[in-house]
Amino acid sequence: MNIVDVEAIAKLAHESGIPLVVDNTFATPYLFRPFEFGADIVVYSATKYLGGHGTTISGIVVEKGGFDWFNGKFPQFEEFYKEYKDSIEEKDLRNTLFTKRLRINFLTDFGSHLSPTSAFNLLQGLETLSLRMDRHTENALKVARFLASHDEVGEVSYPSLTSSTYHELSNKYFPKGSGAILSIRLKGGLTAAKKVLEKVRIFDYMVNVGDAKSLIVHPATSTHFGQSKQDREKAGVYEDTLRLSIGIEDSADLIQDLKQALDAINE
Ligand SMILES: *Cc1c(COP(=O)(O)O)cnc(C)c1O
Repeated sequence: MNIVDVEAIAKLAHESGIPLVVDNTFATPYLFRPFEFGADIVVYSATKYLGGHGTTISGIVVEKGGFDWFNGKFPQFEEFYKEYKDSIEEKDLRNTLFTKRLRINFLTDFGSHLSPTSAFNLLQGLETLSLRMDRHTENALKVARFLASHDEVGEVSYPSLTSSTYHELSNKYFPKGSGAILSIRLKGGLTAAKKVLEKVRIFDYMVNVGDAKSLIVHPATSTHFGQSKQDREKAGVYEDTLRLSIGIEDSADLIQDLKQALDAINE
């Protein structure tokens, strides 16, 4: 849950003639619109909030258009253009060269198509994106505040909290709320983390995120397993860290579930 200063990074990138690519999976276009802050390409794992129900694996690439791929730094695009210039109109060349190349090289040649059923699932999920994101963020803030007040919790990382290092950037980039993923550190270390995982009943112990259901995971032994302790800690993953993906259930139920699990640490 670190927020980068996207506008500043876009400026740096453009001064050096490189495009800025933003993975906007956690925010979704409902909470954050990267093009408005200088991004050139935005990518999503639609497996998460866009689909919304953890049922369908897919991704999306969106190109803003207008980036100069012929500034001498991107020979792969020059070669591609030479090969296909008879089939690419000048306006497409300026605006969709990146996605044109993706389509032809990866969709047409390799066949990485989305199945019709997957497309249907995603479109159906997308219809409720705004409703879900409002609920996700509202729940996440309530849960974050509760966690920050619990004696067993040493630290809560959630940018919308005033205590967060990223609070100012969060106000600038995420006025509607900074999403629904958060992490905590427990005072009782690994033992306490295991106890919480054992005791939660509404939160599912799952490694995915951005599901309508609330999920919890111990990153050091799952998503970040296999990395050295040093690398993990650089990423803010400690033995006492739990990552939560807050769903759209009733917030009182979520808080009650976490409360009984945290209260059980010293049983
Ligand atoms: C899950 C995830 C991905 C990978 O997407 P899949 O749909 O699981 O292949 C990429 N970026 C972010 C931020 C993710 O959360």
